[in-house]
Amino acid sequence: MGINETRIHPINTGWLHGDLGTYIFWKGPAGKKKWQPVYCHYVDTGTHKILIDTGLPDQERASKYHHNCEKRDCLQVHEHLEQRLGIHPDAIDAIVFTHLHWDHVQNMKEFKNARYIAPKAEIEMAYNPLPLYYRTYESGLLGIEPAYTGCAFEAVDKECEVLPGITMFPTPGHSVGHMAVTVATAMGDIVVCGDAIFEERNLDPNPAEKWRFWVPARFVNSYEGWKSVEELDKRADYVLPCHDYDANVRSMVFPYEGMPLRKRRQVIPGYQFYFADMPGDTAQKSAPAMPADEVEAYINNLADPEQMAD
Ligand SMILES: [Zn+2]
Repeated sequence: MGINETRIHPINTGWLHGDLGTYIFWKGPAGKKKWQPVYCHYVDTGTHKILIDTGLPDQERASKYHHNCEKRDCLQVHEHLEQRLGIHPDAIDAIVFTHLHWDHVQNMKEFKNARYIAPKAEIEMAYNPLPLYYRTYESGLLGIEPAYTGCAFEAVDKECEVLPGITMFPTPGHSVGHMAVTVATAMGDIVVCGDAIFEERNLDPNPAEKWRFWVPARFVNSYEGWKSVEELDKRADYVLPCHDYDANVRSMVFPYEGMPLRKRRQVIPGYQFYFADMPGDTAQKSAPAMPADEVEAYINNLADPEQMAD
């Protein structure tokens, strides 16, 4: 029992067509689109079997109420667990939700024995959404029955270890109460990011604007959103964003031998952080600053969102 046994299995529940400028990158190439996977994550700690988010519904429901959706070879979360991982839905002890947007909560009632743990501000917003977000939270006012109808949640409103080795911490900005989830593993802290970032690339600079992070465009609050991206950077040895294909397919299971660990909170000369604080006991985990003579080559090698469209 303990972090040596902990394994994370990414589950792709389908694909959505997202805009590179209005969703994935602030000041990115608006009007150009990219197919994005919608992952949720099954975590077995040896003691508990949990899910972090539950992903998409079937293609018909997704496309009818939301975005153009393709299932391809993906299953819904409960089908994937049983058919591809051999885990019966009744074996799930808890579902930890990063936020309650429609593409992260479907089929939760399939897990009859699970506790439902979610950020307090997300529960409040889900049951009484700001009108701008009726569709995002599947408000009954639009004639949609939300996935969480009739469910009771356990609320979390500040950083806490909800189960041994599983820590939720606030990362608002994408949504009002968004929280990311740190999973402690033998190889380091793997942070399941929800939508606090969409891709690993969000954690690297936007050279044209001199931004230390090329943050996503989809925020209810850009100030909190930027702060949350810094928070991920300080805490994660590896990130699993819910809509990043590459980060989730490097292995069927995480951690794995040879997993590329990221550098936490690396100073890159010419690219300024905005917030100085580090979470308790993590200052010593900051990477050494990038040598000035390496910056140009690093920046030139970064992926350009202009090149990412389908
Ligand atoms: Zn999402």
